[in-house]
Amino acid sequence: MKRKLFTKLVCGWTSLIVGATLLSPVIIHAEKIEEKKENIKKRDKEIQQLEKEKAYTKKELKSIFAELEEKKRKLAKLDKEVFSLEKKLRDKKKKLKKKETRINEMKQLYEGRLRTIYQQGDMFYIESVLNAKNLDQFISRLSYIRIVEKRDRELIKRYQQDQVILKKEKEKYEKLLADRKKKAKKAHSIHSRLIKDYKEHEKQIQELAKEKEHLEEANEEERKQIRDMVRKQQQQSKSKSSTYDGGTFARPVKGEITSTYGMRYHPIRKTYKMHTGVDFGASLGTPIYAAAGGKVIQSRPSTGYGYIVVIDHGGGLSTLYAHMYAQDVNVSVGQTVSKGQKIAEVGNNGWSTGPHLHFEVLKNGEHTDPMPYLK
Ligand SMILES: [Zn+2]
Repeated sequence: MKRKLFTKLVCGWTSLIVGATLLSPVIIHAEKIEEKKENIKKRDKEIQQLEKEKAYTKKELKSIFAELEEKKRKLAKLDKEVFSLEKKLRDKKKKLKKKETRINEMKQLYEGRLRTIYQQGDMFYIESVLNAKNLDQFISRLSYIRIVEKRDRELIKRYQQDQVILKKEKEKYEKLLADRKKKAKKAHSIHSRLIKDYKEHEKQIQELAKEKEHLEEANEEERKQIRDMVRKQQQQSKSKSSTYDGGTFARPVKGEITSTYGMRYHPIRKTYKMHTGVDFGASLGTPIYAAAGGKVIQSRPSTGYGYIVVIDHGGGLSTLYAHMYAQDVNVSVGQTVSKGQKIAEVGNNGWSTGPHLHFEVLKNGEHTDPMPYLK
């Protein structure tokens, strides 16, 4: 029993050793790199899907926002209308009350006069008329009484007409106000529903962005691993293409440095993040030159960095160029390039807020500050 197991173990180990010696480390590394590339591709697809979802949610959010703005405008108009109608109605009510008071006063006055006339009977007329000193006075007193009476009646009639008109106006405004208040109430509820929708969409976008950020970090990790692989490959090949003479690098693009190498503060996340290269701001299509002579070891699409090119300069040094578009890249893997040779054009591909070149110097596969090499 024990012997059998031992033999099995020995056989197993032997075949393992044989298998391992058959596969050269270079092939293992190449396979690993391929695997990593596949992983990146898969994740890129996921990120693209997330981007699509985000774009869709953003589009929806935009339309909701437009609707919200429209409703806000309508609501403001309605509120204004309600306000002015309330004011008008208050004015009308005030005027109506004044009219009513005036009518009551007039009525009392008129009734008082009539009462006097009736109470005193014809004697009041007769006395007043008879006491007239002459015919003119007699006639004028008689007509005066009639005129006063007529004027009182007319005044009351006019006030009563006014009262009717005012009442109608008051009713009209009351109806309008009720209608506007109803509309405003409806608009308010639509408005609050839209705000709720908007907030929900915003939350969704934030969640999607968070998810994407997470994937980005994973990809960054993947890229770090690729750098490690590159480093190992460089060590194994013992840099046969050792063209780097230790001199300065050529500036890879004509453009200002917009971001330097080092820790960068993220104002939203309130965290520090490493910026692994130098950013040169330049317009789309600006030529990108090889910083030094060497061999192109990577020329492929990536997610965060768009299309990238990596040139191995020998001596453990390589340079990385990022954010290009595939159609603007002139070099392919295995190609030898000379210092200052145009290799691509500035793009705005990947996670980039504006056209720029992200330039990295890799020393034994680790990113390092490119500035000393450029001076
Ligand atoms: Zn950068």
